[in-house]
Amino acid sequence: HVNLNGLEVGYDVPALPGMDEADIQTPCLVLDLDALERNIKKMGDYAKAHGMRHRVHGKMHKSVDVAKLQETLGGAVGVCCQKVSEAEVFARGGIKDVLVSNQVTAPAKVDRLAQMPKLGCRVLCCVDDPANVADLSAAAAKHGTQIECLVEIDCGAGRCGVTTTADVVKIAKLIDAADGLKFAGIQAYQGAMQHMDSYDDRKAKIDVAIAQVADAVDGLKAAGLDCDIVGGGGTGSYYFESNSGVYDELQCGSYAFMDADYGRILDKDGQRIDQAEWENALFILTTVMSHAKADKAIVDAGLKAQSVDSGLPTIFGRDDVAYLKCSDEHGVVGDPDGVLKVNDRLKLVPGHCDPTCNVHDWYVGVRNGKVETLWPVSARGKAY
Ligand code: PLP
Ligand code: MN
Repeated sequence: HVNLNGLEVGYDVPALPGMDEADIQTPCLVLDLDALERNIKKMGDYAKAHGMRHRVHGKMHKSVDVAKLQETLGGAVGVCCQKVSEAEVFARGGIKDVLVSNQVTAPAKVDRLAQMPKLGCRVLCCVDDPANVADLSAAAAKHGTQIECLVEIDCGAGRCGVTTTADVVKIAKLIDAADGLKFAGIQAYQGAMQHMDSYDDRKAKIDVAIAQVADAVDGLKAAGLDCDIVGGGGTGSYYFESNSGVYDELQCGSYAFMDADYGRILDKDGQRIDQAEWENALFILTTVMSHAKADKAIVDAGLKAQSVDSGLPTIFGRDDVAYLKCSDEHGVVGDPDGVLKVNDRLKLVPGHCDPTCNVHDWYVGVRNGKVETLWPVSARGKAY
């Protein structure tokens, strides 16, 4: 935990433990700790009941403290994240099993990745290029360390990853034969389907991915290579991977905090997942700073307090007012009945949790109306 001694509320931090929720400086990120703990426990119990490991996606929250809660309360086996600098934050923070669920190719980054096991953690990354195998191997050999490699399959996300079993087997064999590397299995995250509203549409997409991954696992087995990890799965799909008989590791991220865009997707019973499966635990707390127009309240959370790539935030627990648009430092809230007044506070549910967390320094953890804890967004800005 970070030492908060001597930090000034309003300058260094938006709040300190012990304060009333009403005194938190806005805009800032607030975590409902009860909801967060319930979400984490629920996913952990699900994974355990289905014989799956859960390697939580740390890029969502970029927080060592949240990752540790996911380990202790949710039985997480470690984290995945997307960048070497981000991985270093988790490793230095004490996470013992870190997968960069991405390609690491730039020579300087390969070199840093190869040094990470010296921090006392297991280090893994994804590979989709034969030439990259040689570079990773040389760096691990140079530092006397081991990098475990997952061959990445593009199973529908349309970004990194190879698409044929022949290519998977070819790269896996190269990894297996390389000094300093260990072939650890497959990375297969179908990112494009996670946010489709319809459960059946998501299932149709993931069925194709599962068949592709099963074929690769069989091809590897025929070549004498076993997969320790067959990893993938997100908040919109984890039940499909868990029941696939092929995947053994989940990588869910957003379930812990939830956001407005994910909240809209439907579960198998046709319920929005933020009404049934998961609770909103992450909010942008914001304050009305102007109500000079009768039908509009202007709040202090604009573009710089959030990412609106997946839509505008919603206002938690209210249908009488709505967040209509934003500019850098202003949010316009429609207030047709004039129910808001200056200095009223609203809890926004961000449109997209991951990039929203990345623009804040702190999570203010709240329970029963009191600030209980302050957690740094430890890997905030670690995009390199
Ligand atoms: N795995 C990878 C590689 C990802 O990039 C992501 C998020 O984009 C996830 C898993 C799961 O995230 P979420 O549960 O937020 O959909
Ligand atoms: Mn996301």
